[in-house]
Amino acid sequence: MLGAVIGDIAGSVYEFSNTKDYNFEMFPTGSNFTDDTVMTMAVAEWALNNDICADIKAQTKLLESIIVDVAKNVPCPMGGYGAGFHTWLFHPERLIDYRTGRVASGRCPYNSWGNGSAMRTSSVGWLYDDMDTTLKVAETAASITHNHPEGIKGAQAVTAAIFMARNGASKEDIKKYITTKFHYNLDQSWEYLHDTYEWDSSCQGTVPQAIISFLSSDDFEGAIRRAISIGGDSDTLACITGSIAEAYYKDIPEYMVSKAMSLLPVRFRKVLGMMGEKGYYSIW
Ligand SMILES: [Mg+2]
Repeated sequence: MLGAVIGDIAGSVYEFSNTKDYNFEMFPTGSNFTDDTVMTMAVAEWALNNDICADIKAQTKLLESIIVDVAKNVPCPMGGYGAGFHTWLFHPERLIDYRTGRVASGRCPYNSWGNGSAMRTSSVGWLYDDMDTTLKVAETAASITHNHPEGIKGAQAVTAAIFMARNGASKEDIKKYITTKFHYNLDQSWEYLHDTYEWDSSCQGTVPQAIISFLSSDDFEGAIRRAISIGGDSDTLACITGSIAEAYYKDIPEYMVSKAMSLLPVRFRKVLGMMGEKGYYSIW
């Protein structure tokens, strides 16, 4: 989960000023966490307090209250929220129910396939003992807003990759599982992506590229460098890549850990501490 935060911070400056240089400056002046970290922490806070045996309405209600509370109390220092999610968060009275075309009676999912569901899911990959539960919780965490099949798929694919990586699966096994289960094309080379990839904020245009950046890397920092230097939605790509790379490599350079921890507010550092008590791999 800290890998997601580090990726987000590393990509924050490059989101709106893309680089194709693999040797870009890590953490240039102005680097900070963005909505990817804020929502990662919100989902983690929920997952740590959620009863997965409760009915889905109760789980969703708790998730909504935590997401809204975190967003209101910990503003994004950089960037902001996508338009649809911003309305869901701060102006639910303006939400249109996409199923009826009428004004919604409260917060409701808006059929999004944006990469927001995939960038906020990393804690779920760490907390459960089996893949079925992991995928089910990932679906719940996504569906509160991103209930389009691609939105759910993106969150589940990232969560599954983290679950497998932290349990010692090989890159070949992770690639095979993701390809078979979610039908993403992971056969493109990173070099091809580096030459051709352009901005895409959908799950289906972000998650496979983030996974390829991880699969083609040799270590955590290299994975982050690969995710950012293909261009596009850099903070979210690196957030997703970092979340998987952390689970796989376990080892994160100390300077990257220190940078992230120096920027995080107390509430988020507490969430990381609680994840540690639950058995989450603790590196700080
Ligand atoms: Mg962001």
